[in-house]
Amino acid sequence: MACQKSTAGDNGIESPQSKSGSDRFEDRLALLAGLSGRIISNLDPDRVYQDIVAAACELTLAHYGALAIFDDFGVIDNFTTHGIGKEEKERIGGPPTGRGLLGVLPTAEKPLRLADLRAHAGFTGFPPGHPEMKTFLGAPIYHGDERLGNLYLAEKAGGREFTSEDENLVIMFAAQAAMAIRHSQLYARESTLREQAEMEHARLTAIIDSSAAGIVVVEAPDGRVVLANQEAKRILGFGLSSGDDRETYEYAAVYRRPDGSPYGVDELPLQRALRHGETSQGVEVIFDFADGRRIPTVVNASPVYDESGYVTAAIAVIGDISALQEVERLKAEFLSMVTHDLRGPLSTIKGLSSSMLMDSGPVDDETTLEYVRTIDEEADRMSELVGNLLDMSRIEADAMSMDPELCHLADITAEAVRRIERSREGGNHKIVTDVPLTLPEIFADYDQIGRVLSNLLSNAIKYSPQGSEVRITSYQSPDNSGEIVTKVADDGVGIPSEEMDKIFDKFYRVTSQRGRGRPGSGLGLAICKAIIESHDGKIWVESEPGKGSTFYFSQTGAVASVGYD
Ligand code: ADP
Repeated sequence: MACQKSTAGDNGIESPQSKSGSDRFEDRLALLAGLSGRIISNLDPDRVYQDIVAAACELTLAHYGALAIFDDFGVIDNFTTHGIGKEEKERIGGPPTGRGLLGVLPTAEKPLRLADLRAHAGFTGFPPGHPEMKTFLGAPIYHGDERLGNLYLAEKAGGREFTSEDENLVIMFAAQAAMAIRHSQLYARESTLREQAEMEHARLTAIIDSSAAGIVVVEAPDGRVVLANQEAKRILGFGLSSGDDRETYEYAAVYRRPDGSPYGVDELPLQRALRHGETSQGVEVIFDFADGRRIPTVVNASPVYDESGYVTAAIAVIGDISALQEVERLKAEFLSMVTHDLRGPLSTIKGLSSSMLMDSGPVDDETTLEYVRTIDEEADRMSELVGNLLDMSRIEADAMSMDPELCHLADITAEAVRRIERSREGGNHKIVTDVPLTLPEIFADYDQIGRVLSNLLSNAIKYSPQGSEVRITSYQSPDNSGEIVTKVADDGVGIPSEEMDKIFDKFYRVTSQRGRGRPGSGLGLAICKAIIESHDGKIWVESEPGKGSTFYFSQTGAVASVGYD
């Protein structure tokens, strides 16, 4: 496209019709001023390059124009043309790079104005497909001492030569172009850096936010929170309102040492880092909130300095150690329970057997029998506890052996009831069973399912008043899944809803039951769960404190015995 004929170039720049094409010097200067203004109106480098080359064509009435932009090493890294069609451009290929006139032009320091390109000694010919060009005007583009690129113009309108006036105007235009180029390049560089920084920031925010530890950054001088990740917000119990990253931290908690004494605000690791530039590591701080929440934590804090060595901010990493403390507590409780539960029966056994051995031992056969029975029961209690401990470690090592066979829940239930009724604990409760013989048999480990029932039965008795009723019922699941559900219901103390999902964890005992004179290891239900799950079944509980609990377990019923006998 011949730019001097157009009113709007490829780039959409409107030609000032009144002045474009005029030979009057004042008009051409006015045109130069207008075009110079326009080439700085964009910031995108590609648009700016197009605007420059189109404006240069318009200024000099050149039919063809090209702009070569150099990188930091003087190598052409952008070549924008004007007046050359897309296909033509593809045929020509990249910018000239050889040793001929067009190849060496990029390094020429002065403008080059030729009436006939072909007549120049350095001309080595156009590459195949290149449009024929005769008149030529080339000019370097300098920004200060730095060479930014070259402007090439060819084929002035009407077969005329480029004049010295054209050359001067192009030199003036090149100075303006240099500013526009540098400006857009800086803008592009800055945009790239900004994008990179934003990406980095987003990445860092994602990492910080997903961190398992709480991270808080506060700013000097007043300790306003500038960053708090999700975990920190959870622990600290405050939120930064959206769009406001400078909300002042609210001191909603009392901060305590492990011995319970409160920290002064100035003594807290984050404040010490901010006010005194101190680094703290592994400081135990308990967050004690007015609403009853209590979170034990370990805090590390460090100051952040500016170049002059002043503390500008402080950062704290807060780790919630509640879970760790709970494990420690359970471990300690378990050890004291095991020692207590083993020592109790042991001293009874020892006491009774010693008195039997003494000369003044039991006076009659009935007393002797009573002693022996008690010894037997106490030994049973001990062996049950040791058995539970062994089973738990087998379950954890995945080494619990199962020996499934076709059996009927009615038999398992009857045996479990007989066992509990014979024991001392079962004597005072009424046990009612409803396990119809019409139910299908199950394919299960007879002894292990028996243990589950015995355990649930013994719990029902242990956690309900003397003389109350315990009901065992088995039925086919109403949802046609073929499952058989067994439930053990009592009218006992019940379980608070917030603890219901924990009682199947090993060593867990309901808070209100601990130390109430009801011995227990917190292992029974964990073992039941492991046994039922290894039979592909489910175990769960429904309960109401003060009213009673119902434990359920389900199993797949065997429809027929084919293949199992
Ligand atoms: P434990 O040896 O302590 O009874 P379990 O694992 O059998 O251990 O039970 C865990 C805890 O669940 C018990 O300590 C008790 O607090 C609670 N629990 C179990 N069964 C019942 C029940 N039938 N009624 C009320 N609480 C129960």
